[in-house]
Amino acid sequence: MTTPTQALGLILDHVRPRPAQRLPLEQVLGLAVAEDQRSPSTVPPFTNSAMDGYAVRAADLAEACGTHPIRLHVLGDLAAGGVARCAVGPGQALRIMTGAPMPEGADSVVPVEDTIRGEAWVQMDRPLRAGIHIRLAGEDLRQGQLLVSAGQGLRPGEIGVLAAAGMASLPVHPRVRVAVLTTGDELVDVSEPPGPGRIRDANIHAVCAQVFACGAIPVPFPRVPDHRETLMEVLRQALENDVVLTTGGISVGDYDFMKAMLEELGAERVFWKVAQKPGGPLGFWMLGGTPIFGLPGNPVAAMLMVEEYVRPALRKLMGFTNLYRPVAEAILEGGWSGKVGDKRTTFLRVTTRREAGVLRARLTGPQGSGILSSMLLANALAVIPEGSDRVEPDGTVWLHLTEEAEDH
Ligand code: AMP
Ligand code: MG
Repeated sequence: MTTPTQALGLILDHVRPRPAQRLPLEQVLGLAVAEDQRSPSTVPPFTNSAMDGYAVRAADLAEACGTHPIRLHVLGDLAAGGVARCAVGPGQALRIMTGAPMPEGADSVVPVEDTIRGEAWVQMDRPLRAGIHIRLAGEDLRQGQLLVSAGQGLRPGEIGVLAAAGMASLPVHPRVRVAVLTTGDELVDVSEPPGPGRIRDANIHAVCAQVFACGAIPVPFPRVPDHRETLMEVLRQALENDVVLTTGGISVGDYDFMKAMLEELGAERVFWKVAQKPGGPLGFWMLGGTPIFGLPGNPVAAMLMVEEYVRPALRKLMGFTNLYRPVAEAILEGGWSGKVGDKRTTFLRVTTRREAGVLRARLTGPQGSGILSSMLLANALAVIPEGSDRVEPDGTVWLHLTEEAEDH
């Protein structure tokens, strides 16, 4: 059986970033930039005042003190957005607001709170360091400076910098559209009371939410009954999207048609079944360049598969360099024991917290694959390697930290 590492490797070998598009700055939040972006301009473009105060020549105030205050002649006022019409000469000052360009001749700004203001003069009673309270042209960004690297995700901070540098649009990898299909005769909509033998469709909501959280666009399809022809028809429509995710019907039950239908449609099977718990029957196909993930129906397993396999694939398709969650070592309070001799990797849902600089994890509760409530409060997955059937109380485990920190 394919190991989790092999499965992920196979998936990533089959997907390539979608072609880049130039999009306006207001549409790029969370997307990966397609090429290195260098600043086309110098920021700030001119040397300007960092305070509301007076632009002066520091040398004029060298002798100022409480007993011998110095008065300078005020030439006028300069607001942000204006330009000084005259230079500041010896014995002179210009009243200046934050962000206004420094006038010729002046080298420093005295904050207004350190002055006494008269009719056409201003008085100071202490010297100041030359160059203080001014912002030099180019001290923030140099022209040609690397701002973001290819494959880096754009956050509000990057967007602000790109705007200041004058980049109204940039090449990014677009969001991918992900068809999400849930299958099963037993499923009803969350808004319906489930009749005898029926259950609510949790996957359509959980999986679409995960896809959305990856920065992709979920395209939910109406629930598909366990009926060959209907499934075939819906799969055809789903294949109009960039990626197809299906849940259920992928196992070996009498009504599990997913594998057969995909292969009848001509999809190339890359693998089916991964040696992991929860999970197992994860299938991955390619059809005409479209990746298709057949996820198990079991909601815990389906979500785990999206987290571990679909998310890195979507990130690769969307051009991100960093495909994975942060990994960290933690102490597993209470330990864990599984099936002796199990050859599968186990993913445990845990709640993690940092205490005195040490990560401590605790199981979210019972870990059965039917226990969806194990997702509540989970902020990491503990990965127990194959062949390991127990973790001693306070033993160490590796975590995939799933809590959104940066991402897309
Ligand atoms: P299957 O893979 O279709 O055999 O489904 C495995 C288990 O997951 C069964 O108990 C199904 O009832 C359940 N299941 C399948 N799909 C969903 C879904 N969309 N929401 C909630 N449970 C599901
Ligand atoms: Mg089913």
